[in-house]
Amino acid sequence: MSGQIPTPKGSTTLVEGIGPAKARLLSSVGLDTLEDLCLLTPTSIVEWPAQHTEGPLPSTGLVRVSGSVLAVKLVRMRGKQSRVVLRLDAGGWEAQASFWNQPWVRDRCAVGDQIELCGEARSTSKGPELLGPKIGTERDPLPAPGVLMGTYLAPKGMSGHVLAGICKQAVRLVGGQIKEPLPENLLAAGDLPDLPTAIQAAHEPRSRVAFEAARRRLALIPLLALQAQLAARRAGAEEGGGRPVQVSSELDRELRSRLPFQLTPDQQQAWKILVRDLGRRTPMRRILQGDVGTGKTALAALCSFAVVEGGGQVAFLVPTEVLAEQHHMGLAPLLDAVGIGHALLTGRVRGEERQQILRRLATGEVAVLFGTHAIFQKGVEFDCLDLVIIDEQQRFGVGQRSALMDKGKGAHLLLMTATPIPRTLALTVYGDLEVVTLRKGPPGRGEVHTRWVRGAKTRSIIPWLAKRMEAGEQIYWVCPRIGSDGDDAPGAAEARFSKLCDDERVNGFGVELVHGKVPAEERSWRLERFRRGDVGLLVATTVIEVGVDVPSATVMVIEQADRLGLAQLHQLRGRVGRGPLESWCLLVGAAAAEERFSMLIQTRDGFEIAEEDLRRRGMGDLAGLRQAGNNQEGLDQLERDLDLLLLAREVCQTDLHLARDLAMACGPLLAP
Ligand code: ADP
Ligand code: MG
Repeated sequence: MSGQIPTPKGSTTLVEGIGPAKARLLSSVGLDTLEDLCLLTPTSIVEWPAQHTEGPLPSTGLVRVSGSVLAVKLVRMRGKQSRVVLRLDAGGWEAQASFWNQPWVRDRCAVGDQIELCGEARSTSKGPELLGPKIGTERDPLPAPGVLMGTYLAPKGMSGHVLAGICKQAVRLVGGQIKEPLPENLLAAGDLPDLPTAIQAAHEPRSRVAFEAARRRLALIPLLALQAQLAARRAGAEEGGGRPVQVSSELDRELRSRLPFQLTPDQQQAWKILVRDLGRRTPMRRILQGDVGTGKTALAALCSFAVVEGGGQVAFLVPTEVLAEQHHMGLAPLLDAVGIGHALLTGRVRGEERQQILRRLATGEVAVLFGTHAIFQKGVEFDCLDLVIIDEQQRFGVGQRSALMDKGKGAHLLLMTATPIPRTLALTVYGDLEVVTLRKGPPGRGEVHTRWVRGAKTRSIIPWLAKRMEAGEQIYWVCPRIGSDGDDAPGAAEARFSKLCDDERVNGFGVELVHGKVPAEERSWRLERFRRGDVGLLVATTVIEVGVDVPSATVMVIEQADRLGLAQLHQLRGRVGRGPLESWCLLVGAAAAEERFSMLIQTRDGFEIAEEDLRRRGMGDLAGLRQAGNNQEGLDQLERDLDLLLLAREVCQTDLHLARDLAMACGPLLAP
């Protein structure tokens, strides 16, 4: 190490005290170079606390104690683990601290030494202790109370304090060599310090104001990188040049006449926009958002008709097999009526059947291909793919979605979603997409009444269901869990199914069961029996949450509804009220979810519900970002830094070259 002049791209092992093991730990959270360490932003800053003088030690929070060392002992464990336990006489009471895998701590102090400790307190089975606190000695004292320090999100196995120290060292080593890549006017526009200043102030904050400015400058880096990537993708799409699909007013009329109904005013408006999009050489990048039941599928069908008329092919992509089958079955008659070839390709279509579909796809004989992401697997070649439709796109993870979008490069792209997209996400993850919204669904729908049924009233459910089925209506009975043999606890679909099968009040109408473990073929056959009305009562898990469309189903019972989220309950409820008859959604569940239930009872407006859900659970969930591994904190911050986001967007839109350079200089991206 000696003799080597560290550079920003140098390895983290150049920091004193970092060996291969620690370097690996840092690398596991994306910290590979000294520069990475410099650019890491503390999540917040706190003041060094005043001394805690009265015993005992609290069991949480940042705590500082001083006193003389009573004992210090190193315990070695199996697998290279070690723990130093330090006991301190803090002035008539005792405080304990543990240091994991820092054996050298033992040699830093001896019994009788006067020292200070400051760190996070936590409770253990043997009482509270400080976990890996900083040690201050007479020669090397801790900063005074009130001095600021950053808190760091450290990888598992490393304390925030240690990471803070590492970052500080990295800044001392190479901070001065990191240059500001942004032009001055841009910094001025955002009221931001330059990068070297920001790096210094982030890791050794002198004031809260200076830290906040530094944090914002550093936060701009991934925003710029992401916007640069979006700009590049947009430019790529434009260069790629899609095939324009022209829809004359004559054709327009003809296409619409293929639907069994008149478009609603909202659908008409959206259709106009889609026709304009399709007619451009620049491939369409459009999100169609609209609550459950607003009629998005009809627009997907019209777009497909138009593209096929123009000689192109359509990939109709959905997140689940159930939904793929549903769409295929629903649209097949419309396609057959005008002789458009179609097929269904899911993971379970294999062997000769699959080969045949692939052949017909390659020749263009299959013009509309329905399926799950299996339709973008290797070996699936289209003759002329002009339109990719992704339904219920919120169900796909962010990474998956962007991979799918890349497959359809140059093709028009229509994403459909029942979940409104918050502004920050519209500007980031969806930064290159435009949105059109269906607010009102088709008329002639019956009311949907939502009730919370509890206590003795639950006993009246089954007789009442029998009456509804007597009148020719159909019932969904939703259970949150599949359950298994002998699992009799409430909420298990298997158990509920066998109970209902044995119940003479309802079993005469036919009872069926679907859930994720029923083999797909069997499942679609059972769903079909329900759709045809051969079966009155369908017991299901949430597999039916999206897309399933049976207009004569008027009742949904949701058992253990308290186990499901607001948005999910709303989606489920969207399965009823699809015909002209009055419908009911009966929520059965614990009072813990009363707030959620009353929200559902009050409104059927999915946007309102989604907003509420957003407020409760944060944005990550809604956008499917959490599954994709992005942290919530990052998204909350995004909300806070909306102005920075807009700044980054503006920079990248006006100057793609600068954007590209920046993206290169800026390092890792925030999201795919
Ligand atoms: P979603 O937006 O949830 O995907 P769908 O496209 O499944 O909604 O439509 C819900 C139901 O409304 C379907 O039964 C569909 O046939 C019907 N529908 C759609 N548009 C119209 C319309 N303009 N007039 C009458 N019914 C319609
Ligand atoms: Mg739909």
